[in-house]
Amino acid sequence: MSYFGGDPNFCPECGNILPVPGIQDTVRCPRCAFCIPITDFSGLEIHSTVIFNPVELSSVALEDKDFDLKGPVIDRRCSRCNKEGMVYHTRQMRSADEGQTVFFTCTNCRYQEKEDS
Ligand SMILES: [Zn+2]
Ligand SMILES: [Zn+2]
Repeated sequence: MSYFGGDPNFCPECGNILPVPGIQDTVRCPRCAFCIPITDFSGLEIHSTVIFNPVELSSVALEDKDFDLKGPVIDRRCSRCNKEGMVYHTRQMRSADEGQTVFFTCTNCRYQEKEDS
């Protein structure tokens, strides 16, 4: 709202401090009887709380991309697109008893297979 610029706690007409919004749906200035609907107040709060989620999503996507195509390419045939050439890489599991898991990533379609050694 254009008449509503600046601090929402003060009356834009006379500069008097406005009362806290209560159960009524308007806030009325006690000095000059200027009246503001409460929907303006809740609109301001929504603007300041929406921002965070997209940042978390993009950091997860970056980790997956990093995992994709590192390591030597071997002559293994992809079981999804049937082309030869898959990246070979291993990942040590947290417990040493479980040994390594070998991953193959298709360089053509990025399909991923794994084998436990
Ligand atoms: Zn006023
Ligand atoms: Zn493939």
